[in-house]
Amino acid sequence: MNTFLLEIVTPDHAAYSGEVNGVSVRGIEGELGILPGHIPFITPLQVAPVSIKIGNEYTSIAVSGGFVEVRKDKVVILAESAELETDIDVERAIAAKERAERRIVAVKKNQADIDFQRAELSLKKAMNRINVHTSSKR
Ligand code: ATP
Repeated sequence: MNTFLLEIVTPDHAAYSGEVNGVSVRGIEGELGILPGHIPFITPLQVAPVSIKIGNEYTSIAVSGGFVEVRKDKVVILAESAELETDIDVERAIAAKERAERRIVAVKKNQADIDFQRAELSLKKAMNRINVHTSSKR
């Protein structure tokens, strides 16, 4: 089978390590499909799902920040955080989303001196986790 080694690493743990047939990531310039034999490159990632293809099965991982590096021997994703579908605590993500939305509203009303970009990033991370969790239930 035509596969390559994919590793997803965060400061806390090795979130994933295994042979895959393909991986799709969202780089800063858009969606990138990586197949075996792809030329080496490195690019920053958006807060988005990473989709892994193994045989005819697809698995999603919620990745926040970081880089993808395509090497000759393997593909490495170095991320700030990464959660498999099954590891996502959706209640926690919903609470984080609501908190971020309240902060964004407060910033817009000028009622709070909270960093808007920070709240927006929290919102993106929470929505990414909710989307990955929800898509695994379909
Ligand atoms: P929260 O406000 O709920 O803490 P956060 O976006 O601030 O969310 P991060 O700083 O991105 O959280 O992550 C801190 C750690 O918690 C990481 O190890 C991340 O994988 C984990 N984590 C965050 N949210 C969830 C979640 N909903 N389900 C599972 N793990 C999570």
